[in-house]
Amino acid sequence: MRLTKDHADFRSSVRRFVDDVINPHADEWEAAGRFPAHDVFAKAAEQGLLGIEYDGAYGGLDADHSFQMVAAEELGGAHAAGVPLAIGVQTMMATPSLAEFGSEELKQRFLVPAIAGEHVAAIGVTEPDTGSDVASLRTSARRDGDDWVINGRKMYITNGAQADWICLLARTSDEGGHRGMSQIVVPTDIPGFEVVSVLDKLGNRSSDTTLLAFDNVRVPIENTIGTPGRGFQQQMKQFVTERMYGVYAATGQCDRALRLTRQYLHERTVFGSPLASKQYVAFRLTELQAQLELVRSHNMQACEAILAGEDITRAATVGKLMVGRLIREVADTCLQFHGGGGYIEDTWTARFFRDARLVSIGGGADEVMLQVLARQDGLPA
Ligand SMILES: Cc1cc2nc3c(=O)[nH]c(=O)nc-3n(C[C@H](O)[C@H](O)[C@H](O)COP(=O)(O)OP(=O)(O)OC[C@H]3O[C@@H](n4cnc5c(N)ncnc54)[C@H](O)[C@@H]3O)c2cc1C
Repeated sequence: MRLTKDHADFRSSVRRFVDDVINPHADEWEAAGRFPAHDVFAKAAEQGLLGIEYDGAYGGLDADHSFQMVAAEELGGAHAAGVPLAIGVQTMMATPSLAEFGSEELKQRFLVPAIAGEHVAAIGVTEPDTGSDVASLRTSARRDGDDWVINGRKMYITNGAQADWICLLARTSDEGGHRGMSQIVVPTDIPGFEVVSVLDKLGNRSSDTTLLAFDNVRVPIENTIGTPGRGFQQQMKQFVTERMYGVYAATGQCDRALRLTRQYLHERTVFGSPLASKQYVAFRLTELQAQLELVRSHNMQACEAILAGEDITRAATVGKLMVGRLIREVADTCLQFHGGGGYIEDTWTARFFRDARLVSIGGGADEVMLQVLARQDGLPA
């Protein structure tokens, strides 16, 4: 697949958004532990960034997935990963199921305002007692007349403190395991919903991560996305999209880090010559750049497969695993080559080091990726 001038122009426009809307405020938002999502999303929506692949009938750009790839990579180059994470939740984690399986009425009520940046969305899967093992989740939605009555807790929910609605995965029957779950759109302005706490965390500090409680929350049955009972399967599909966002954004994060470090190696002199002249340093950075180029090729191939309508579960899983490992190496190496300065909060390296750690955990830990791949390879793991 070859990217065209249209992609280059689009990339420039996303870069301008990052430079104008995110970067000038990144330090302030990181310190505050949140960013003004409604304000930033409204600006993102003006450029079509919240509905790149979505149907024009719902306010989307009607572009193909390659433009989403470009946007996610460019957003990943922002000076703090928290805002790109929040945007990714909105575009590729909380809304894809709604766009694919939701009823027309549900899309008009929740997808249209999400694409327009009027609503902030969150995805609620993880619970205090279960994350990797999604089939063990316990949040329940019991039918009562024309309503679901929801009880449970959701943990580590990005955008949770500012969300207008949540794409919630809940157990809607007693079948157990991966059977009998449904995805339900839960508005947050209703009785019984509570943001219990905003969690203090290592990195991605500008994005709010929350513990949410649902105590007899009543929503109409029509808020079910797709077929009741198929929530697990729909969510597994949504996870594939989520993982690709993580891969693309982490690619952008690595690209920026390697670029900035290359620059620094020319500026910093040790033992009478620039760091760049030390073979070990130059080779190590080049080695990481080469690995990033392989990830990029993988991304292009996955993107091509998406455009061809193929199942990319394996590609998303491989990409998520490999980029999660790579970004940790990149963050560690870039910090190391900045010396003591790399450890100081004012330097971008410290924040990047903290932000990067999430990629191997969020959206499925490395070990979960390995489990998926091992099973596909006939290793029952
Ligand atoms: C900043 C942040 C934002 C997040 N945002 C969201 C969100 O918006 N919505 C949402 O639903 N969730 C969100 N999450 C949750 C995230 O997806 C989970 O943390 C992740 O899936 C891991 O689940 P867990 O934390 O419960 O870890 P556990 O499931 O308790 O796993 C702990 C560790 O055990 C290991 N492990 C797990 N399974 C296996 C296995 N089969 N074999 C070997 N080892 C294994 C892994 O090392 C794993 O890290 C977020 C998390 C963070 C930190």
